[in-house]
Amino acid sequence: MAHFLDLSGHLSRYRSIPAHMKTLSLSFWLQKRFSTIFADSHHAISTAEKERQLDKENIKYRERSQLFLKDLPWYAMPDDQVLARLEVDRNGLTEAEAKKRLHEFGLNTLSATKVRSPFARFFLQFNNVLIYVLLVSALITGLLRHWIDTGVILGVVLINAIIGFIQEGKAESALEAIRKMLSLEATIVRDGKRMSIFSEELVPGDIVMLASGDRVPADIRLIDVNSLSIDESALTGESHPVSKDVEPVQMNTPLGDRKDMVYSGTLVTHGSAMGVVVGTGDMTEFGRIGQMINEVKEITTPLLRQIAVFGRWLTVGILAVTVFTFIIGTVIRDYSIADMFLMCVALAVSAIPEGLPAVMTITLALGVQRMARLNAIVRRLPAVETLGSVTVICSDKTGTLTKNEMTVQTVVTPDRLFEVTGTGYFPAGEFYLNHHMVEVYKYPELEELVHAAVLCNDAVLQEKDDTWTVIGDPTEGALLSLGMKAGIDPNVQRDLEYRISSIPFESEHRFMATLNQDSSGTKFIFVKGAPETIIERSSDERTETGKRPINPHYWHEKIREIASSGQRTLAVAAKKVSADKTDVTFGDVEGGLVMLGLFGIIDPPREESLLAVDQCHHAGIVVKMITGDHVETARVIGERLNIGVGKPAVTGAELEKMDDAELRRVVGEVDVFARTSPEHKLRLVEALQANGEVTAMTGDGVNDAPALKRANVGLAMGVKGTEAAKEAASIVLADDNFSTIAGAVREGRRIYDNLQKGILFLLPTNGGMTMVVIAAVLFDFALPMTSKQILWINMITAVTLCLGLTFERPEANVMDRPPRNPKAPPLSYYQIWRIVFVSFILMLAALLLFNLELRRGQSIEVARTIVACTIVVGQMAYLLNCRFLRSSSLTRRIFCGNPSIYISMGILAVLQLIYTYAPWFHDLFDTASLRPQDWILVLAMGLGTFLIIEMDKAIERFLAARNGKPDF
Ligand code: ATP
Repeated sequence: MAHFLDLSGHLSRYRSIPAHMKTLSLSFWLQKRFSTIFADSHHAISTAEKERQLDKENIKYRERSQLFLKDLPWYAMPDDQVLARLEVDRNGLTEAEAKKRLHEFGLNTLSATKVRSPFARFFLQFNNVLIYVLLVSALITGLLRHWIDTGVILGVVLINAIIGFIQEGKAESALEAIRKMLSLEATIVRDGKRMSIFSEELVPGDIVMLASGDRVPADIRLIDVNSLSIDESALTGESHPVSKDVEPVQMNTPLGDRKDMVYSGTLVTHGSAMGVVVGTGDMTEFGRIGQMINEVKEITTPLLRQIAVFGRWLTVGILAVTVFTFIIGTVIRDYSIADMFLMCVALAVSAIPEGLPAVMTITLALGVQRMARLNAIVRRLPAVETLGSVTVICSDKTGTLTKNEMTVQTVVTPDRLFEVTGTGYFPAGEFYLNHHMVEVYKYPELEELVHAAVLCNDAVLQEKDDTWTVIGDPTEGALLSLGMKAGIDPNVQRDLEYRISSIPFESEHRFMATLNQDSSGTKFIFVKGAPETIIERSSDERTETGKRPINPHYWHEKIREIASSGQRTLAVAAKKVSADKTDVTFGDVEGGLVMLGLFGIIDPPREESLLAVDQCHHAGIVVKMITGDHVETARVIGERLNIGVGKPAVTGAELEKMDDAELRRVVGEVDVFARTSPEHKLRLVEALQANGEVTAMTGDGVNDAPALKRANVGLAMGVKGTEAAKEAASIVLADDNFSTIAGAVREGRRIYDNLQKGILFLLPTNGGMTMVVIAAVLFDFALPMTSKQILWINMITAVTLCLGLTFERPEANVMDRPPRNPKAPPLSYYQIWRIVFVSFILMLAALLLFNLELRRGQSIEVARTIVACTIVVGQMAYLLNCRFLRSSSLTRRIFCGNPSIYISMGILAVLQLIYTYAPWFHDLFDTASLRPQDWILVLAMGLGTFLIIEMDKAIERFLAARNGKPDF
């Protein structure tokens, strides 16, 4: 079986195949076909019988089409028969036909998993122990006929449920958007053209190209394979990759043994292939088991889990304190059971931070959504927190730190060095020799070199509005552009010397080889790859007049020369083979090649990378470059980006010679690793982790997956990355850009800060009120707040105020402080102190004013209203303290950056004024109007609270600076 994987060069060979029956409706055609396929097989049911069955079951049109395809044993049919049955040839379907089939078969997606109705989602908000406690309290207060308490408790429950419902909806839609961003693309052939479409638009009959690292987008019958192996573990549980070919297998062969089929959801681990789609969506084997791939799981992280556990223990603790207070109140202090019960209900309601889970989840969901907007798509949520602890980022070079817009600038043949002008892929430029413009055709060795580079090449250049872009590998795109500058039309050339077989480029072996045949029937193997690899396989070199034994010294000298200007190096060699050769194997390219020449390709660093690397350095993060490129190129580019300046660079070959202890030492000292292959990445991550570093690692290839999984934060390339890499990673960089990593670290730190701010704000505000009640009961003075009043404050403040904090921007020093210690508990000792201290301050302020007012002869109603207002104003003041975790809030920045803080404070102020002055509230809550001088006291208390906490923060900063941790 011939292997024609590069269609662009061979399309003409297939153009003669007639496209038949295209006018027939697909379903009609399918029905017709069905009666002929395996008509003699006892497995087939007659069409008429099937029709009757379908009619009887009243199955819809689309499902009917699907059923006709579903039952066909594609694996047992020869490939040409499969193509004929699906009415397609290797040129693919026409767009019109594809559209028709899409209508007929529907999108290539699995039927949506059951979505919970909004109604059900709302009621599920009540399924929570805290809420049960509140509902029981409401019931009992109702039985005691304290309708206002009942009403307020139900209000709290309802507000909580509404906020929970909204936040869950927001979180869901954030995740949904992210899921969409991760949707697969497939490379297909339609109308004879190779193109990329969303996998969900695939239809039966589409011709799909698969390459290593791809996730198989549908059920596909293979028609051409090239050393293809597939990881089918997702489907069959078989953990070892299975190799595939195109020969049909016996009827009834089990799924795992169908060598000529690949199934949706499995992974290409090696090689490449072409195949025809035989099943999409629910018709696929994956559809049958109804699983979803690529799912972004529920919203949770280690911190959130810790908080949830903490929340449960807190509830138990609060209930214990409440029972204790109840006993003291009734037995020792002689409160009536009913009063004390109401008080304890209020106590429990006010102490339980029921808003905490909602605030945590929404902070995380909004953060993840923001990160997606910044091009960092989070696949595993714990990574958001880990980002804040990252101490080392290991980044690829090409395309991540550099632009990946390659242009050939230097061409070296055995006797000459040519310079080429032009920028980007735009195929206009001149060749210069010793500063004189030259015609390529006058130098046959140059012409042959360029010509080989065009043939040993899978890329396609395309022009739109005068802009040239590359489909495929940018390095290869640069060679195509060079070819066009030399007057070679890649399409014509590829047709004239069509490809018979190929070994695709992989980072491990660092070369690509093709077997081509020209019009006279002569066959050549062309190899292009990393120069060292090519030189060691070459015995001769091509000169102007013929060939001579290779001079490795000359080539190594030239490689160094080119690389030291930061250019990537790439070499090309060729070998004539016998006319009966039908396949190129690794053995064929082991030796005996004729070196044709060398290319120097510029790939300029991204401007924003330099800035991002500097930001990382400031943030205490070491940036290491791990590249497959030449050591000199890597060193020069590294230097331009401030990576590893003045330090040695180490190659993959050198790494291999090191034992683990040596490697651990070296990874600490070296920042540039060159000529590495994916296995080295895994060793480097492990060595860094053994040194106690929290490591982020980028990757794109299928073989990068182990290192991505092992890294604390695996970062996959969204554009050039394979599906295998994306699935192994915890974050996908939608733009492959290093600066996105720095942005993600910043965002990760912001989210963690905001989660902490939420906790630091909520707990003391609950704690303050609880302490007021406990103090009153313990020290036997009039209760400063009635149960209704406590419930009121709780209802209007807790969640509303805190939600404002979730929108808080990153603090100014967020990238100037060292990474967070991942082993540190979620709250530091200082933060625990702050929670207790603030609770105490709020209690003190409330009790102070309460007693002062009573002493001044004010009614208990006025004193209690003042207490409620003091707590509300104190909370507002404390909210401002919490806007900046460690740095001072006594700054102008307190007035800007987050309008939602001021909006929620404004709403709260209005509600509190209504509470204080509306006669209706006087009756309901036993409140009283305050005089202006009362407000002065209340506001002074708020200001005092704010200043005392600022002082506390300042002392903490001073102590931290003295202990050598200035940013904490
Ligand atoms: P990174 O810095 O992201 O690791 P890289 O392109 O430098 O990327 P590889 O992709 O592993 O690293 O490439 C290593 C070497 O292989 C390159 O320096 C080049 O010489 C050669 N090479 C790259 N792309 C191709 C290709 N498509 N065909 C043949 N050789 C290639």
